[in-house]
Amino acid sequence: MKYLQELSNCQLCEHRCGVNRLEGEVGVCRMTLPMIASATLHPAPPQSYTIFMAGCNFKCLNCQNWSISQYPDNGMAVRGMENPENLAKESIYHLRSHIGQLMRADRIFFSGGEPTIHLPYIEKIVDAARKIQPSLKVNFDTNGFMTEESLNRVLELTTSITFDIKAYDDEVHRALTGAQVYPVLRNAAYIGKNAKDKLWEYRILVIPNMNERDVRPLSNFIASIDPSLRVCFLAFRPNFVMEQHPGATGALMQRCVDIAESEGLTNVYWSGRVGLRGSISAAATKLSRSYQNVEARHLATYALKAGCGTHPRDCKTCKTNQKCPIKRYTPRIST
Ligand code: SF4
Ligand code: SF4
Repeated sequence: MKYLQELSNCQLCEHRCGVNRLEGEVGVCRMTLPMIASATLHPAPPQSYTIFMAGCNFKCLNCQNWSISQYPDNGMAVRGMENPENLAKESIYHLRSHIGQLMRADRIFFSGGEPTIHLPYIEKIVDAARKIQPSLKVNFDTNGFMTEESLNRVLELTTSITFDIKAYDDEVHRALTGAQVYPVLRNAAYIGKNAKDKLWEYRILVIPNMNERDVRPLSNFIASIDPSLRVCFLAFRPNFVMEQHPGATGALMQRCVDIAESEGLTNVYWSGRVGLRGSISAAATKLSRSYQNVEARHLATYALKAGCGTHPRDCKTCKTNQKCPIKRYTPRIST
C-alpha cells in the first residue's frame, strides 16, 4: 500500500504528530490505518453517498457522531479498512441506484469523524471512482484543522466543502475541541478567498450560553472575506459529554441569523432541531486561572467533570492524550 506511505510520518493535520501509523504508532487522533465506520445514501444537502470515516483529531464535548469520532477508544464497531476500488464501485452503484436517483444524490460525501486524517486513502477512493465516472462530484466535510498542504490536496480533490467553524475565540475553541482555532480560521479564510466556488457553506454550531458571543466576531470575520459566502448556523442538541446541556431555541437561532446579517452577511440561514431540554452546568471556579473567557470556562467544566485534567485544553501536548477520558466517555442519551 504505497499510497499510505506518508502515514509513516503523519503530518496530515495541524497536530503534526510525526508518528509512524503504519508501524502502529498513534498520534492525537489515535488512528493507525484508515477505517470506514459506515457508508450510506444520505438525504441531507448536498444529497450523497456518505462515507463516514472513523476517528477524529478533535475531542469535541458536544460531538453528535461520538461513536464514530472517538473510535477506537469507545469500543464501537466499524466496517473497517476496505479496498478503495471496491468502495468506489459501491459508491457509484448506490448513486446510480433507483433510490439514489430519487434522492438526487450526486456525489460521494466524506464525513466522520474527520476525513483529513485519512486523506491519502480518500484520494485513492476518489481516483478509482473517477476512473469509472470522470465527472463524479465529491464533498469533503471538515473541522478545518488540516495543514495548508492537506488543504491544497482537498481543494484538488473536491467539488464542494462543508466547513465547520466551532468558535472564534481561541479559548472557547480549545475548551470545546481540545485544539487551537488559528489553523481553522486560516483555512476558512483561504477557501473563502481562493476557492469560493467549492465552499458549500460554513457551518457554525450554536451552543446556548457557550459560544453565543462568538457569533458576531465570526460573522464579521466571514463578511470581511466575502459577504456573500454561505453560512449555516446549526442548532446544538444535547450530546456526548454535553448530554445534559440544553438545546438551542428557535429564538436563539434566529438571533444568530439577525446578528450575521447585521454584520453584512447576505447568505445566512439556520437549521436543526431546537428546544431540547437540559440544565446548564455551573462554572468551575477552579478553572478561572486557565481561562479568561467565562464561556470557555463553562465549557471546560464539562471536560473537567468527564475527566479531562489539562487546561487550557490542548490535546497535542496533553500528557494523557493516549488514555484520554473524553474518548472513553459514553453518554446515556443521544439526540
Ligand atoms: S492527529 Fe493529525 S497529524 Fe496526528 S496522527 Fe492523526 S492525522 Fe496525523
Ligand atoms: S484529557 Fe487531554 S487529550 Fe483528553 S480531551 Fe483533555 S486535553 Fe484532550
